[in-house]
Order: sequence, then structure tokens, then C-alpha cells
Amino acid sequence: MNHPAEPDTQLDLLEHYVKKILAAPVYDLAVRTPLQPAPALSAALGNQVLLKREDLQPTFSFKIRGAYNKLVQLSDEQKRRGVITASAGNHAQGVALAARELGIKATIVMPSTTPQLKVQGVSSRGAEAVLYGESFPFALAHALQLAERSGQTFVSPFDDPDVIAGQGTVGMEILRQHPVRLDAIFVPVGGGGLIAGIAAYVKYLRPEVRIVGVESEHSNCLQQALQVGERVVLPSVGTFADGVAVAQVGAHCFELCRLLVDEVLTVSNDELCCAMKDIYDDTRSITEPSGALAVAGIKQYVARRGVQGETLVAIDSGANINFDRLGQVAERAALGAGALA
Ligand SMILES: *Cc1c(COP(=O)(O)O)cnc(C)c1O
Repeated sequence: MNHPAEPDTQLDLLEHYVKKILAAPVYDLAVRTPLQPAPALSAALGNQVLLKREDLQPTFSFKIRGAYNKLVQLSDEQKRRGVITASAGNHAQGVALAARELGIKATIVMPSTTPQLKVQGVSSRGAEAVLYGESFPFALAHALQLAERSGQTFVSPFDDPDVIAGQGTVGMEILRQHPVRLDAIFVPVGGGGLIAGIAAYVKYLRPEVRIVGVESEHSNCLQQALQVGERVVLPSVGTFADGVAVAQVGAHCFELCRLLVDEVLTVSNDELCCAMKDIYDDTRSITEPSGALAVAGIKQYVARRGVQGETLVAIDSGANINFDRLGQVAERAALGAGALA
């Protein structure tokens, strides 16, 4: 069937995002992270694996890119009134740091069950932490209500074109750092902001590069949305990979993902623990469970398809994990490796 108007509209949409990505002034605060070879993993898989080290950002995840790009573009009046968000994780740290850098007052609503460490992470960066509700949806509702009452701008962790464009700078860096053969980029997915931004940039310039989303099997909201063609709400989500524990993909994110994402894989918690060990073995650095999703996805992809000699990039998206959880991760990695062998 012919839809003569469609290709142009899609191209316009991509071009709109590419321009926003090119103009995003994230390097006031974020750093250009290395695209680093993983020699042991590459040898084991028979493919060249490169890690995009977003765990090396200030605040230890890529979220600082989107948060800063959103805040820096607010009007003077919006900046004066301040910003508000709901998050117990990496987005909270990103907003707090970006707000301090720009001299904007930030309020972060966190579920009352949030560990003290993360509450401190926010308040030590000068933001006001408000503890509210038993779980994330209650904190979110409260934040939206406060925003309406106070006139503060609500900053979504993923469902905002400026946030998506900020995260898209990761894709821009990958293409500049690796202008030669590149077969696929594996991207961890929570609400879909990171993959939407990366896909917009990469598919515009190098449409032959596959964009593969990787979700936890306990929070596969993008995979399900793509299957049925609309944004589903998951009845419950697992929180082992807390950075991606999202029940519904963002609307702006889905608009891009349905056009641009080639496939979505899901991985188990045991596969995540094994991938955390693989990353440690190659880099001597620790990632959080969400940060290891893409590497777990590459291992599954190679095992299923039997591809050899390809160049595969994994976004190593974050490193915020409490030290006392590492024992459990190491144990499960040992068990998981046994089970997979
Ligand atoms: C937020 C986050 C993700 C997922 O990003 P989305 O834009 O929500 O899809 C992945 N990994 C880490 C470490 C994160 O903090």
C-alpha cells in the first residue's frame, strides 16, 4: 500500500530530533564518555563488543544529559519558579545536579520507602527531597499535583522531547567515535527516552545500523507496546533492575520507537548478574543491574542468531548500586553461569 504523505512526515520528525540533539548543550555538565573495547567478551562471543561507558558520567548515569538539556532550555520565568520531579533513582540525581549547576530550585518527590542513601544523594546536591507514598505511582501523582499548585515545571524522566534529545547525544557520540563498520547498538529500555534519542540520531544518519532494545523480562513495557501497537500499562513490574522498572513506555518515546527500533529482547535477572560480571572482568568496573542490560542482550542475540565478526555496541548505562547488594549479584552470577552452561 502507498502512503505518500508518510515518509516525509517521518523524515521531518527525525530531522526535528536530530537538530535538537546537535544543539543540545549537554557538555556544560555531561562528559563525552569512552567507547571502549571489551576484549574478553569479544573473544568469547566471536564479535567485536564495544561498551559506551555512561557509568562514567557525573552522577554515574546518562540521565544527566536529558535533565540538563531540559532545564537549560526553560524560560527565565520557569527557571525562577523551579522544577519538580518524581524519582528515587538516577533521574533524581541528574535533575538535582543540573538544577544546582543552573541555580534552579529543585524538588524531588521520592517514595517514602526510598533508601536513605538515595535521599542523601539528592539533598547533598542541594535539592529538596519530599518523601511521599508507598511506591512510585503515588510519588508521581503527588509531584504532578505539587507542580500544578506551585507553578513549578514538572521534569519527566523520559517522556519529553528535550529529555529525549539530551539522551540522543549518546548516539551522536557513538557515530563520531566509530565511523566505520557498526552492525547494531543495544540499548537498555525503561520508559524509552534513551533508545528513542539514540534511534532518532542513528537512523537518520546510518539507517543500516540495527537498534536493539533490551528490557528486563519483569518490565517489558516497550516490547508489549510494539506487539499490540499501543502503549500498554503493565500490571506490575520487577525492581531488581530498578533503573528500568517502568510500567508504561513514554508517548513521545513510543512515537519514535515504533518507527525506528528493529527489535526488543528481554533478559532475566540471572542473565543480568552474569553480564555485570562480564563487564567487571573486562573493565574492572561495577555496573548496576540496568547498566548491564545491553551486554546481557548482546550475549542472547549472538547465541540465538549465531552471528560472527559483527561490531556490536552496548550502552553501559549506569553504576548506581549499593555496595551491600554485590554479594547477592556475585552469587547469582555463579549460579546463572552454571545454569546457562
Ligand atoms: C533510566 C535508566 C535506563 C533507561 O532509560 P529510559 O530512558 O527510561 O529508557 C537505563 N539504565 C539506567 C542506569 C537508567 O538510569
